[in-house]
Amino acid sequence: SISIEGLTRRFGAVHAVDGVSLDIRAGEFLALLGPSGSGKTTILMSIAGFEYPDEGRILLGGEDITWLPPNRRNLGMVFQRYTLFPHMSVLENIAFPLKMRGLGRAEREERARAALRTVRLDQLGERRPAQLSGGQQQRVAIARAIVYRPRVLLMDEPLSALDKNLREEMQIEIKHLQREIGITVVFVTHDQTEALTMADRVAVLDHGRLQQLGAPRELYEAPQTEFVAGFIGETN
Ligand code: ATP
Repeated sequence: SISIEGLTRRFGAVHAVDGVSLDIRAGEFLALLGPSGSGKTTILMSIAGFEYPDEGRILLGGEDITWLPPNRRNLGMVFQRYTLFPHMSVLENIAFPLKMRGLGRAEREERARAALRTVRLDQLGERRPAQLSGGQQQRVAIARAIVYRPRVLLMDEPLSALDKNLREEMQIEIKHLQREIGITVVFVTHDQTEALTMADRVAVLDHGRLQQLGAPRELYEAPQTEFVAGFIGETN
């Protein structure tokens, strides 16, 4: 599990994150949902270690990771723009994090092929990223993020660059994969429908503050603030 305790991050006069406390259970799919500028990415980057808070702390499985560098946190990350290396094959891209961790060649290859199977791209390992569709590239990014078997997968708007049909297909696929490998997912989105259909629980944010944390149904049936009622009500 991840415990976020009193997280605060300011940029000048802007309170990007303002005293957010939230527990993420092991194995759950948690969405961070809110409009642009509500602090979602800043929270995710703080969990990842690319941002450090002004106040508060973050625990992972009870261990205080607030000041640990990103590569010592045992987390996988997928961003909106799949940042694959264009000059490497799909398999080399996926194996790259393992190379950084000093694993031997045979084990890298075996694990990369297993990760590629998990995202159902077994046949495409020798291709370059440019020879794949947007959805396939995003699957490769997911495979790369899970290849060293992290406890937690952090995803920042991973589907927002995809068209509607593909986005819906990938929503189902990510859900499926999450159950299959039993990983904790923290998923940033500004899309109410995406959050409500994919997540076990949704944390609704506005202006850096946690408005409500609950199962999709609780947010519908018992919104606790005007903001949540209005924002969830916009769902089409
Ligand atoms: P979006 O959906 O647009 O990415 P968000 O909910 O993820 O928004 P954040 O990116 O966390 O929001 O930003 C929260 C606030 O902090 C915004 O007002 C943003 O402009 C500000 N902010 C974030 N990062 C920085 C930075 N590096 N320097 C200055 N201001 C920042």
